[in-house]
Amino acid sequence: MEEQVKCLIIGSGPAGYTAAIYASRADLKPILIEGVQPGGQLTITNEVENFPGYPEGSSGPVIMEDIRQQALRVGADIRAGMVTEVDFSQRPFRCVVDNRDAILADTVIVATGASARWLGLPSEQKFRGFGVSTCATCDGNFFRKRTTVVIGGGDTALEDALYLAQLCTKVYIVHRRDQFRGTKALQNAVFATENIEVVWNAVPVDILGEQKGFIKKVTGLQVKDVHSGEERTLAVDGVFEAIGVTPMSDLFKGQLEINEQGYILTQPGTGRTNVAGVFAAGDVQDPNYRQAVIAAASGAIAGIEASRFLMEN
Ligand SMILES: Cc1cc2nc3c(=O)[nH]c(=O)nc-3n(C[C@H](O)[C@H](O)[C@H](O)COP(=O)(O)OP(=O)(O)OC[C@H]3O[C@@H](n4cnc5c(N)ncnc54)[C@H](O)[C@@H]3O)c2cc1C
Repeated sequence: MEEQVKCLIIGSGPAGYTAAIYASRADLKPILIEGVQPGGQLTITNEVENFPGYPEGSSGPVIMEDIRQQALRVGADIRAGMVTEVDFSQRPFRCVVDNRDAILADTVIVATGASARWLGLPSEQKFRGFGVSTCATCDGNFFRKRTTVVIGGGDTALEDALYLAQLCTKVYIVHRRDQFRGTKALQNAVFATENIEVVWNAVPVDILGEQKGFIKKVTGLQVKDVHSGEERTLAVDGVFEAIGVTPMSDLFKGQLEINEQGYILTQPGTGRTNVAGVFAAGDVQDPNYRQAVIAAASGAIAGIEASRFLMEN
């Protein structure tokens, strides 16, 4: 099967659904392909306090279903499936869904998101969302006046530790080397912060915690000294892993400009990629913020840009 559309949106996180709202209202009749994670990353968290419009906070799946319903109401054609192949060498752009059906699109909005890297520790899965997180900005507030640990040694780890140090009584940083990779200014700020303690040359071995019925909580992080092999337990309430993020951009390699970290390059403030008519929104092009509201806003920008592009061409 082959069909033609004015706008194809790839991805169903906050960026994709919001792009669909804007593109639908601009009469582009967009098709949105949801991918393997309908609703995106936010669907795996139960407590979201910082998305506007939910004064009591809400769960990620509820927020994403609300945005999806809004996109459907204004006319978006939302479909299950994976985009498995793209050809951006000429317009209309040819995209293949599930290795089968081709969509010829006058504009494409790439909103395929990113995925945080996890350590793969034995108890990590069990305590995800119950004290184990990859996002200090998202979950730090739940650990006010408590003790947390950040794992990592790059800029994100240092920024996370500094952010948490404002909220928590104490913050450990566990790093496998004897110096950080992060920028000097951040390092200096970390060293000058009294309630941050660095545990050098150590790797996490396991996350410890308790479970009573459905209630789970983290009680500690077991770490091992890389030289002596000696193990110790840090008593913590929260574990923040800051060991990197993988933008979901492999499909677009060779088609779009992508940086060394895998982020799609866009012209600041526009969502425009190096291919005229192809836009990127959300975490796949954002190394800095990784927040749902920012992904949604960039989806809105991409939707507006796609509409303007079609008016001008
Ligand atoms: C555990 C957790 C908790 C979080 N908590 C918060 C929070 O409290 N507040 C906050 O603001 N942010 C939070 N975030 C971050 C937030 O979820 C992300 O910033 C946001 O979801 C990014 O949106 P996005 O639309 O760019 O991409 P994503 O949400 O990553 O969605 C990407 C979408 O692309 C689809 N996709 C990928 N490849 C393909 C393909 N080939 N074909 C079709 N579709 C494809 C996927 O199925 C998915 O639907 C949290 C993240 C995590 C992991």
